[in-house]
Amino acid sequence: MSIDLIADKVRRGARVTGEEALELYRDAPTSLVGRLADGVRARKHPESIVTYIIDRNVNYTNVCVAKCSFCAFYRDVGSPEGYVLGFDELFRKIDETVAVGGVQLLLQGGHNPDLPLRWYEDLFRAVKERYPTFKLHALSPPEVVHLARLTQLPVAAIIDRLVAAGLDSIPGGGAEILVDRVRTLLHCYGKASADEWLDVMRLAHRAGLRTTATMMYGTVETDEERIEHLLRLRALQDETGGFTAFIAWSYQPDNTVLAGDEATGVDYLRTLATARIVLDNFDNLQASWVTQGGKVGQLSLAFGANDMGSVMIEENVVRAAGASYCMDEVEIVRNIENAGFAAKRRNMHYEILGDPFFRERDVPRMLELATARSDGDTSIPAELAGYEARSRSGKRLRVVSPTSR
Ligand code: SF4
Repeated sequence: MSIDLIADKVRRGARVTGEEALELYRDAPTSLVGRLADGVRARKHPESIVTYIIDRNVNYTNVCVAKCSFCAFYRDVGSPEGYVLGFDELFRKIDETVAVGGVQLLLQGGHNPDLPLRWYEDLFRAVKERYPTFKLHALSPPEVVHLARLTQLPVAAIIDRLVAAGLDSIPGGGAEILVDRVRTLLHCYGKASADEWLDVMRLAHRAGLRTTATMMYGTVETDEERIEHLLRLRALQDETGGFTAFIAWSYQPDNTVLAGDEATGVDYLRTLATARIVLDNFDNLQASWVTQGGKVGQLSLAFGANDMGSVMIEENVVRAAGASYCMDEVEIVRNIENAGFAAKRRNMHYEILGDPFFRERDVPRMLELATARSDGDTSIPAELAGYEARSRSGKRLRVVSPTSR
């Protein structure tokens, strides 16, 4: 089909096929793909509002057995640079988040064999006890699969137990590209196959949780595989309707085993716009300013995005791979308003919480994102002694409590 005919189809609100999406992504002028995506965004969000959330992106451990080749964040089991955050450190981070208007933690981490399910349950319960209305957007599908394997329990049972402990929603991390050929090449098939990732989301949606979906592109996938990823998400969304949003970001190559180059800004904008066109059953698309920088992040609002993502406060994973952009609420709102939209705070369900927080209260400017731990802090949280470690190095460091399992 010609580009003109596909463009007409998008303007009419008809669903595009994978072949048509591929043709648009590869051959349509960038300005046309952008205008089409912007048209879809305007149909879904005619009120000219762009949202953002104030939350904190916390990585509770960097110890990971998965060893994905694109990841610069993880440390091997037993590494002196490995860390697990203590409950008190997490409470302090929540206090800091609440002080600047934050409403949730985005909590993700490595697949650490020395953290049993009970550690997560105790942490979630402790957070909910101290901060009853604070939300836990936690544990991407591969982490849920990891816990299912550690405990030998079904994924649905893990989700039920985490929800009972306080889990509110699941972030869409670890999707990379949902095609097993790509996952095998990236050394992430073992942590979760494409079907396993989708199954966790299916079960979470059935359990009543809302989740997000992501895509990390620009590694070894073909254009066709990038589109296939979108089609798989669209199919699951047709089935469950449980995804609130889609977020795409480009692979960050520094300090990774895979190495290579980062995708360009134009490729990001074309990918984002194509996603807006293909994912006709997703309401919200976020701009990934944390990987693209504020300027491309702002341009995303003309290429299909209706949300500036998170104020974030803290970031560890992307920074380890070389990107260290920072935008506080003032800067996010300035970019939204300068692009011609009204800026509104939201929660994970995309319910509007209000106008910018800094206009209601005095909030100190944030010129750099925080990190999980300050440099050189290798402390081991005292409560870890109460949880059974599986690795030899983990066992050496802990006194095992008889109640641990
Ligand atoms: S991407 Fe996640 S699962 Fe993969 S090595 Fe890094 S921390 Fe581990």
